[in-house]
Order: sequence, then C-alpha cells, then structure tokens
Amino acid sequence: MAFTFANHAGRSVLVDGDNYHDLEALSAGAVPSDPAAALAHGDKLHDLQKKTAGRAPDGKVDPTKLGAPSPTPQKVFGIGLNYKTHAAESNMEVPDNPVVFAKFSSCICAPNSTIELRSDRVDYEGEIVVIIGNGGKDISLADAWNHVFAITAGQDVSDRPVQMASKPPHFDLGKSFDTFGPIGPVAVSPDALPNRDVIAIKCLVNGEERQNDTSANLIFGIPFLIEYLSHITTLNTGDVIFTGTPAGVGAAQKKLLRDGDVVTTTIDGVGTMVNTCRRVSDHNLPLTKKA
Ligand code: ZN
Repeated sequence: MAFTFANHAGRSVLVDGDNYHDLEALSAGAVPSDPAAALAHGDKLHDLQKKTAGRAPDGKVDPTKLGAPSPTPQKVFGIGLNYKTHAAESNMEVPDNPVVFAKFSSCICAPNSTIELRSDRVDYEGEIVVIIGNGGKDISLADAWNHVFAITAGQDVSDRPVQMASKPPHFDLGKSFDTFGPIGPVAVSPDALPNRDVIAIKCLVNGEERQNDTSANLIFGIPFLIEYLSHITTLNTGDVIFTGTPAGVGAAQKKLLRDGDVVTTTIDGVGTMVNTCRRVSDHNLPLTKKA
C-alpha cells in the first residue's frame, strides 16, 4: 500500500488525511522516531500505512510543524537544464549529459519555511525531488525505482549573481544559501502517485502561475539520474535529488523574488508547500559580474 511519510515536529509520522500517526508508536518501536533514520525503513511503511485505518490518530497535521522529510541528507544533487523549455529560456543548449551540481545539505529546510533573500536577483525553481531509501552503487536503470524512498516537492532557490559569478560558472554556492532548499510538505511512495512517470508540478508566485509541467518532459528521467549518479558515487539513505526545473523561472521573465512574495509549489499526489520570502540583508559579495 502506498504511504505518506512526514517529519512532524521532528518525529517520523505517517499521514492519513488531516491526521498523523506517530511511526514509533504505530510500529511498536520497529521504525525510529528520528525522520532521518526512518528513511531506511521504507519497506515497512507500506504495511504500517494499512494499520492506520481504524487506529486513533496521534494528532492533526499542523503545516507549521512540518520539517523536511529528509532533514539531514548526506548529499543533495541538483540537475540543471533538465527540461528543453527551460534550457531554451536560459539561452543554453540542451545538454548531452546531465548537468549536475551540489546543494549543500545545510540549505535543506522545512516545507513552509521563510526564504531569506540576500540580493535582488534571487529566483524560484519548483522541482520534483527524489529521496533515496535503500542506498547503493552502480544501480541499474531497471532497479532504480526500488531505491526511491519517496517523492516530494522542492524549491531549488538560486541567487543568480552568485550562481553565475565565476567563469566557468559554478552553481553550488549560489544555490546553497541557508533556507534555499525547502522540501515537502510530505513524501509519498512512488505508488501513491497517479503515475510515477508523469509527475505533475506547478509553481505559483503570489497566486500567479509561473511553472506547470510534468516529469514526462524531463530530458534525463528519474531512473536514468539514479543510474548515472550511482555509477559515480554511492547513494545513501536520505540523499536528495532535485531533478531540475521546468520553464518559467523568474530570471527568464524578469520576475525575481521580492520581500513578501509567496511561493507555492504543488506536486499532484504530494501536496503543496508555501514559502514566504524575506529580504533580510545584502550579501555584499565583491562580485564584478551581474548575472
Ligand atoms: Zn534547479
């Protein structure tokens, strides 16, 4: 049975409608209360989700208490230019091989958290995010989905001047400011999705639709990314892959994020996370090139 996992007030839970069931209690201690540790127990969660039927829940889900479903990933991969339409709006060629960068795991934050802006050129990138369950090395394309714990939504928030500051550009820092990696609100097993190969994502800013696409249009799909990355580095439980953003980013539309903007990211079958932007300071980096 499909499961809906969440990090609620720092504890691992299964979600059933508006309610949550504490996993440590539900599993009689077989699944740890620490959400990061629980990600290794995906195989048990299918049966445990069944057990929530008819059980008194441990409480109602409070969106302000949700944490990142994978709160402390060892590795966070970002994939650049993974939709043809986004490559075109960025005036970049469609890549022959995946464009891979790192987001440092310290940027991972709660789904409904505040995005802190430190320049006037910070951008949203709504993305489908993969959380690895069982780790592995040299994972085959055919086996890749078996290593996915769950799918969630994410924002690959990007400070464009820092992202493009060096020549050649090096994306990691511009995408790793604190607060630049909200994920959530929950994480669902792939069989919970209407179709795991056609995952629909939408991103709105202040209610205006900016991005709307599906994973069917990924240049490098989820199984391929898992195969590719695992041939280079061991994938560990909790590792996170931001699979790339569709067309409609702010830089292409001259609609970058401003203080008070509300970014809404929705994946069909997962849910919606809502992030409010706050212009907290200038980063005052001695950048010579303005992206
Ligand atoms: Zn991105």
